[in-house]
Amino acid sequence: MTQSVCILGVTGSIGQSTLKILEQHPDKYSVFAVTAYSRIQNLAVICKQYRPKVVVVPSSKVDELQLLLKQYQVDDVEILTDEEGLVNVAAHSSVDIVMAAIVGAAGLLPTLAAVKAGKRVLLANKEALVMSGDIMIQAAKDHQALLLPVDSEHNAIFQCLPQNYLQIDRQGEPQLGVSRILLTASGGPFLNHSLDELKSVTPAQAVKHPNWSMGQKISVDSATLMNKGLELIEACHLFSISEHFVTVVVHPQSIIHSMVQYVDGSTLAQMGNPDMCTPIAHALAWPERIHTHVPALDLFATQQLNFIEPDVVRFPALKLARQAMKAGGLAPSILNAANEIAVAAFLKQQIGFLQIAQVVEHTLNHVQNGVAESIAQILDTDRLARQVASTYILRLEH
Ligand code: NAD
Ligand code: MG
Repeated sequence: MTQSVCILGVTGSIGQSTLKILEQHPDKYSVFAVTAYSRIQNLAVICKQYRPKVVVVPSSKVDELQLLLKQYQVDDVEILTDEEGLVNVAAHSSVDIVMAAIVGAAGLLPTLAAVKAGKRVLLANKEALVMSGDIMIQAAKDHQALLLPVDSEHNAIFQCLPQNYLQIDRQGEPQLGVSRILLTASGGPFLNHSLDELKSVTPAQAVKHPNWSMGQKISVDSATLMNKGLELIEACHLFSISEHFVTVVVHPQSIIHSMVQYVDGSTLAQMGNPDMCTPIAHALAWPERIHTHVPALDLFATQQLNFIEPDVVRFPALKLARQAMKAGGLAPSILNAANEIAVAAFLKQQIGFLQIAQVVEHTLNHVQNGVAESIAQILDTDRLARQVASTYILRLEH
């Protein structure tokens, strides 16, 4: 029997890499449901090739999809729509594994629905966990969901932790002899840019990552180091560890994907070529291992591994994220919402690169923090933070 997979965000970079792995293992996995927000043409091609039973799109795209499916002679797929459709497929009784690969806050409810339905949830959508934190982790425990990290760093950390680490009680202190997590960062395309040079970098330069090929939003986040900030928060929740036990290390080659240090002086690292297919395959098959097309690391060709301390003067987003994690409660949601708005504005050339962090800082200072008691409250705060950030951007533009 194959395991049935639902891919939330199938047309994205992670979605495509997931399909690549599933294609190599038809004996193990089948595609039950796929979802997309745009690129409906791509989605129709995916439907033709993988024959999912259910597909989810925005209501505004149904006509376009139906037309394409007819052309491709795909007539046996059920079309669901909008957030309700996403939540339905994520929690569907026929689904065993959910790949959470929608970008941003839009993925929160479907990811949480998968967790509450007790699925094996492969978490790429870090923003969902940044926003919901303890609520998502508690839901995973309550519903016996297996929340496995796909983000390459967290997947690396997971591989370097003791086997039963996720099952033990979570108190903020490292457990089982672990003393520290070293979260590696490539440093992005502007690692060696001066503050002055950073003022005028363009969206096209920002989305050109030196080592990874990814969606636009995460590429900009990698350039500002907000991605590492979000990952710091993600790591604290996933591994139940306070932020002061997590050190960010800039490692420009992206060969070591993160490390775990132990009280006896050991440091374990997970290494590999930078290809998301490795962490995806790991999370799919864990605790087993499956083949991928990713070539094994050739250490003779890897000339050097360098490690640098991050510069929070040129990349203040990292500092803001750490402060938000320290403040706790709704602060990470405020940070994330403001960042999503600021990145979108930067991509539309409404604000400059350095103003992304300014928008986030302003929003953190102008939206009231508090205890995150429910998802409804988190979503209200997300909306408010988006308004505050958007208003501030209008001011910056003039
Ligand atoms: P992407 O932009 O390439 O794809 C995003 C997917 O989400 C697309 O299928 C899109 O249709 C869908 N989507 C976008 N907005 C939506 C909305 N409002 N409602 C429903 N669906 C929507 O992004 P990506 O690079 O694949 O990243 C996906 C997630 O994985 C992000 O959270 C990112 O941080 C994380 N991640 C990505 C990488 C990577 O290498 N790309 C690595 C680690 C983590
Ligand atoms: Mg990452």
